[in-house]
Amino acid sequence: MRIFKDLSIRYKLVLVILVVTTVTLLIGFSLIITFNIKTYEDLITNKLTVVVRNVGYNCIPALDFSDKLYAKKYLANMSTIPEVVNARLYDYQDNLFASYNRDGFEKIKRQKPERKQFMFYEDDYLHIYEPLTMQGSYRGTLYVRASKQEINEKIKEIVNTFFLILLGLLLFSILLAGWLQKLVSKPIIKLTRTVEDISYHNDFSLRVKKQANDEIGVLYDNFNYMLERIDYYINELERNNQELSEFNYVASHDLREPLRTLTSYCQLLKDDLGNQLSDDAKEDIHFITEAADRMNTLILDLLQLSRAGRVEFNYTEVNLNDVMKTIMHDLKTTIDENDASVLWEDLPIIKADKSHISRLMQNLISNAVKFKADHAPLIKIYAEEKTDKWIIAVTDNGIGIDPRYQEQIFVPFKRLHGIGKYSGTGIGLAICKKIIERHDGKIWVESERGKGSTFFFSISKNIDTTREK
Ligand code: ADP
Repeated sequence: MRIFKDLSIRYKLVLVILVVTTVTLLIGFSLIITFNIKTYEDLITNKLTVVVRNVGYNCIPALDFSDKLYAKKYLANMSTIPEVVNARLYDYQDNLFASYNRDGFEKIKRQKPERKQFMFYEDDYLHIYEPLTMQGSYRGTLYVRASKQEINEKIKEIVNTFFLILLGLLLFSILLAGWLQKLVSKPIIKLTRTVEDISYHNDFSLRVKKQANDEIGVLYDNFNYMLERIDYYINELERNNQELSEFNYVASHDLREPLRTLTSYCQLLKDDLGNQLSDDAKEDIHFITEAADRMNTLILDLLQLSRAGRVEFNYTEVNLNDVMKTIMHDLKTTIDENDASVLWEDLPIIKADKSHISRLMQNLISNAVKFKADHAPLIKIYAEEKTDKWIIAVTDNGIGIDPRYQEQIFVPFKRLHGIGKYSGTGIGLAICKKIIERHDGKIWVESERGKGSTFFFSISKNIDTTREK
C-alpha cells in the first residue's frame, strides 16, 4: 500500500484502470466459461441419455429371446458414439448378458446393476444406468460408461480461446489506460511542476494556464488567484519592510538625538549651577536623566526586536559549548557580583545563526541571574536530542513565574515587576521568541512561583533556509 501511495499519479491511474478492467473481465469471463461448460456438458449428457435409451429398448427383444449375439452386435454400434467406452447389458436376474468395450480402454469389473434410472460423474467418467421395462415388467438394465475426455478437451479449448481474448482485451486496456490517464494526470502534473518552480525560484509571478472548466480548471483558477494574493502581499511586505528600515534609521538616529541633547543639557545644568541647585532640583535632574536613559535603552531594544525578524540569518554549525564560554566571559562581572554558578554539560553542535543564538542564550542566562531568589543563583544548561530537533533547557533556582503569566512574558513589553525592582524593558524574551521562530523552533517555560524556572527552546535539525533567499 505504501508503494502504491508513493507512485506518481500517472501510474496510479493506469494501475487503477487496469485492476478494474482485469477484475471485471475475469469475473465476466469466468461466468461465460462456466455457462459454456455447463451448456456443453448438458448437451453431451442429453445426447448420451437418448442414445442409451434407444440402444436399451432395441436390446429388449434380444433379452426376451436370449439372443446374446444380437445383443452384442447391437451394443457394438456404440462405437460410433466417441464418448462411450464401455456398455453392459444385464438380464432381469442382473446377470451380465452382453457387453461392449472400446479398444484401448480397460474393461469394467463385475458389478450389480442399478434397477433405476441413474446417472453420475466419477473418476472422469459419466456412468449411466437405464432400466429396461416392457409393459410394466422389468427385463434388464443397460449400463454405459462414457469418457469425459472429449468434454475436457472441449473445456480446455473454450478456456484457451477465452484466455486469448482476455489477453487481447488487457493489452487493449493498457493502451487505452495509458492514453486516458493523460486527460486527468497531465493537468495535475503541470500544476505540480509550477508549484515546484515557484518554490524553487521563489517566483510568485508565475501562473498556470487553464485547459478545461472541470474541477481541475477551478483548482487552477483558485491557485492563480492565490498566487496573485501572495504576490500582492509580498510586494506589500517589501514596502512595509522598506518603511520599517526607514523608521529604524529615524529611530536610531533622529529619536535618540534629542535624548542625547536632553542628557547633555541636564549635565550642563548640573555643571553650571553646581552648588546653587537645591536637593529637590538635583533629584529632578537625576530623574530626567534616568528617564532619558530608559528611553534610549527602549529604542535600542525595539531596534533589536525589529532586526531579529528582518535581518538575514546565516545558519552554520554552532558549537554551543563555545557559545557558553563566550557568554561566561561577557557576563563575568554580573555572574561574580551575584555569586552565581553556571553549569552546562556536553552541549551539542547545532545548525543555527551563531550571533543570534548567542544573544538568545545570553538573554536567558542574564534573566536567570537577574530574577534570583534569596540564595545564590544556580543555573544549569543541558540539551536533549529528538529525531528532528534539539531541545535546550536553561534552568534556574530563582523567583519563578506564576503559571498564569508564562505565555504573556514572550509578548513585547510584558514585565511582571515594576521598574524599580528589576531593570529591563520587557523585550528580551520577545526577541528570543523571534530568533527561535527563525530556527523553526519553539520557546516555552515551565515554572512555579518561588521554585525556579526552566526555559526550553527547540531548534529544528532541518531549518527551512529557502525563505532566507
Ligand atoms: P526584561 O528582562 O527586560 O524584563 P524579558 O522579556 O526578558 O524582559 O522578560 C519578561 C519578564 O519575564 C520579566 O520581566 C520577568 O518578569 C519574567 N522572567 C523572565 N525570565 C525570568 C526568570 N528566569 N525567572 C523569573 N521571571 C522571569
